[in-house]
Amino acid sequence: MDRPIVIVGGGVAGVSAAEALRDAGYEGRIVLLSDEAVAPYDRPPLSKDVLRADEIPANVWLRDEAFYRAKGIELVLGAKAASIDAPGHCVALSDGRRIDYDQLLLATGSRARALDMFPPGGTPHVHYLRTLADAQALRREMAELGGTGHLLVVGAGIIGLEVSAAARAAGFRVSVIEPGARPLGRSASLILSAFLTRAHELNGVDIRCGIQLSRVDARDGGYRVTLSDDSTLDVNLVLVGIGAVPNIELARDAGIETRPEGILVDGQGRTSAPDIFAAGEVAFHFNERTGGHRREETWQHAADHGTHVARCMIGLCEHPYAAMMSYWTDQYDFSVLVFGNPHGTSEVVRGDCATGSFSIFHLNQSAICGVTTVNAAREMRKSRPLVMKGAVVPGEVIADPAADPYQYG
Ligand SMILES: Cc1cc2nc3c(=O)[nH]c(=O)nc-3n(C[C@H](O)[C@H](O)[C@H](O)COP(=O)(O)OP(=O)(O)OC[C@H]3O[C@@H](n4cnc5c(N)ncnc54)[C@H](O)[C@@H]3O)c2cc1C
Repeated sequence: MDRPIVIVGGGVAGVSAAEALRDAGYEGRIVLLSDEAVAPYDRPPLSKDVLRADEIPANVWLRDEAFYRAKGIELVLGAKAASIDAPGHCVALSDGRRIDYDQLLLATGSRARALDMFPPGGTPHVHYLRTLADAQALRREMAELGGTGHLLVVGAGIIGLEVSAAARAAGFRVSVIEPGARPLGRSASLILSAFLTRAHELNGVDIRCGIQLSRVDARDGGYRVTLSDDSTLDVNLVLVGIGAVPNIELARDAGIETRPEGILVDGQGRTSAPDIFAAGEVAFHFNERTGGHRREETWQHAADHGTHVARCMIGLCEHPYAAMMSYWTDQYDFSVLVFGNPHGTSEVVRGDCATGSFSIFHLNQSAICGVTTVNAAREMRKSRPLVMKGAVVPGEVIADPAADPYQYG
């Protein structure tokens, strides 16, 4: 029996899973399929370093060739899994190849959500940002314009704001429109959102919330866009950053249970089909800590979940997934870390926002449910135990720089 474990998707979840299998002593074949032509890479640098450099920065690549060779991971690039025969334990590729598997891990991630007015793929001067090719295309056009021009960012989420910061650094005029009431409505607390909004405004970014596109007219070298408040902008370049859609179709078409949020999996990453698992951003996964299912769009989750599910696949892990949400974002000189739930019932600042280095404690009633730090990685390390424990710390102790809230951890 030489049927491999087949992993579909060469993102951080798929690569972490392959590595975890080997590190756990799994000696069978591992086949890692990626529909992309380039070696597995990391997405966070795409909206940061890649936009600032002519060459692809070295930190983009998840692992080098020697790693896959040394670990005996059969990396198959340009290989799109087209269908799954679940009862027959076989994956068919779009080029006609078929691969029998012992167990299958779906780590197919997400794609950028499309905006009707600016369809992805070939609309001139319009960019989406999910792949290395997307980032290179945006970087190329920014370089061609030489920093002179007007960038419209549709969507004030993390990617939209990171691209705004990179574009300002390159000299572009930047306007951001956001239909919601504030930037980062999904991912950041009110205080962090207000702090980053101000940082962008101080750097010259025009952020307009509660605003949508109502009309787009092509003009020489770009577009005239009419907004829902009837104002107009003449722009040369557009970045659409309105979220991500999980790549569930492969699973759904194989009869595996899915939800609009992702492929439904239990705490061990098991789907509804025998010997088929899902991990990372595509998984609508059970998390024991919250007691419910969720899909998460963060690097740390994809890495942790890929590792966890791989260990479950080979029987090394019985306990359900229970990781805390965490992510980072870098904008201008601000390095932001978020751990736990940033959407509590109240929040307390420790330190002074005006210095650009501070923490925000998020409280659910009186218990700490999350923490955000800005240029304060050491504080984040000290705060994590408080979040893990759900510690009850009086607000005045958190806010008092002379007091020690960490003793409650
Ligand atoms: C521009 C950008 C910046 C980001 N910045 C941050 C950040 O600063 N901090 C943070 O915490 N998170 C960040 N993220 C989020 C984080 O990178 C993602 O959550 C993470 O990459 C998800 O990993 P994944 O392996 O689950 O999925 P993906 O990275 O989406 O990988 C899935 C892979 O599977 C492939 N695939 C899909 N279908 C098939 C198929 N049928 N056959 C073969 N292959 C297939 C896809 O092409 C892709 O290569 C960022 C994301 C983006 C896009």
